[in-house]
Amino acid sequence: MDMSREALVVQRAREAFRTGRTRPLEFRKQQLRNLLKFVTERKSEIADALKKDLGKSEQSTELFETLGCEEEIHVALDHLCEWASPRPVERTLLTLQDQVFVQPQPLGLVLIIGAWNYPWAVTLQPLVGAIAAGNAAVIKPSELSCHSSEVMAELLPQYLDQDLYPVVPGGVAETQELLRQRWEHIFFTGSTSVGRQVMLAAGAHLTPVTLELGGKSPCYVHPDCDLSVACRRITWGKFVNCGQTCIAPDYVLCEPSVQDRVVEEIRKCIKEFYTENPQSFKDYGRIINQRHFQRIVGLMEGGAVAVGGDYDEKDRYISPTVMKDVSPDAKIMQEEIFGPVLPILPVRGVDDAIQFINDREKPLVIYVFTKDKKLIQRMISETSSGALLANDCLVHFTVSTLPFGGVGNSGMGSYKGKHTFDRLSHLRSCLIKSLSLEAVNRMRYPPHTHRKNHWARRLLLQVTLRRLRRFTLFSLLVGLAAFVVQRFLLRSA
Ligand code: NAD
Repeated sequence: MDMSREALVVQRAREAFRTGRTRPLEFRKQQLRNLLKFVTERKSEIADALKKDLGKSEQSTELFETLGCEEEIHVALDHLCEWASPRPVERTLLTLQDQVFVQPQPLGLVLIIGAWNYPWAVTLQPLVGAIAAGNAAVIKPSELSCHSSEVMAELLPQYLDQDLYPVVPGGVAETQELLRQRWEHIFFTGSTSVGRQVMLAAGAHLTPVTLELGGKSPCYVHPDCDLSVACRRITWGKFVNCGQTCIAPDYVLCEPSVQDRVVEEIRKCIKEFYTENPQSFKDYGRIINQRHFQRIVGLMEGGAVAVGGDYDEKDRYISPTVMKDVSPDAKIMQEEIFGPVLPILPVRGVDDAIQFINDREKPLVIYVFTKDKKLIQRMISETSSGALLANDCLVHFTVSTLPFGGVGNSGMGSYKGKHTFDRLSHLRSCLIKSLSLEAVNRMRYPPHTHRKNHWARRLLLQVTLRRLRRFTLFSLLVGLAAFVVQRFLLRSA
């Protein structure tokens, strides 16, 4: 039977991986440096493609797509030796003489499936971790951002090892064919519904998955905060890339007493960021295609538009829009908006906001704007989401030490920096013993006796060591107390 094009690519990548050439760290570093060269040398091709796909300006492409990739590559280059080294773990009485460590090891073949909204960031950032961890990786960009996909398929192989890191363009059929192949990990960024299909397909080979999904991320604005700063940050987080951002604040919850001020502040910021006429302003993008355009316009139907609400079908343009007094039953509250429309829902206060959030699926991120540190702590302890960000929007994605990912319906697994390296490595447990000290092992060999079990118990549960530690701590405290009494209390008396 003839093999499909996708199966052939996978076979070639697997054969390349088996040659062992990804094992030396120097090889991985070289590939990372090549990737960095690609991102920096091909900036204009990447920006042109994104202009055609999403109307992004050259500057916003750099800020939101390529800078993050560059940063991830630099972090990986700086830390690769440390990440890939054996990680010693604490020893017990039974392993005192041994080497006990965790050895990160390449998994093998990784499939990276990307979404269209940040087509470069969501494919290249996981790729950095896949390369650093010593894997082969097949990249499947989204067919909806077709210009980016084309440029990626044409140019990336000019920089990276072509067999180890091929790009496979295509749509649903090609992705499904890729999903039928055997992988050691599938890294998927996209919608929750396709995420379910990916997980189902992965089950056939017991392949672990990372699912970077979306959902409705709430933003609670407390009346005590500086509303003009809060709304400026919310306006930026919501309308960048025309609201087509997985971590964009999906909706705002606030008390009725501040709703009108929130609307007015956002109106001011929209004008300040995107001028009176965002349609002709270079930094305001477009909706990816007609289907999404119709879907988003449909979500506005029947609601009270407080700001914007204009659209132009031929240009796939929807103005930055705010809706007020939105009901939880409104159409716009039934799905992830993924467009430049911000509904505001009045709530009675923080208790009501927490209940509202907890009544729904766990979001990718919860935003809270307040001066009250206790309120922020309450949000952290009484709600659940992939991330929680207080007093800003989106920027947690730029912190490479913070794992980025969802929980429940918003996804599973996380990445960024070392977290990607660990996610795409096998963290192998290694214990290296010597053949000496055989007497210690007698307690585990038959015949089993009470006396042997007594010793096994002492050693396994580290009874003596724990008592010793407690005793040492106690002695230290007594010594310290004696010192304080002698030095200060007796002297002053
Ligand atoms: P999508 O699920 O439609 O597509 C994602 C990928 O899956 C594409 O490469 C596509 O070709 C493929 N695909 C689509 N349908 C498929 C099918 N039936 N079988 C197999 N493969 C299929 O998602 P999208 O529209 O590209 O992206 C939007 C979604 O992605 C939003 O929900 C957004 O929140 C989410 N997202 C999440 C993150 C994150 O990091 N968590 C980042 C960006 C986007």
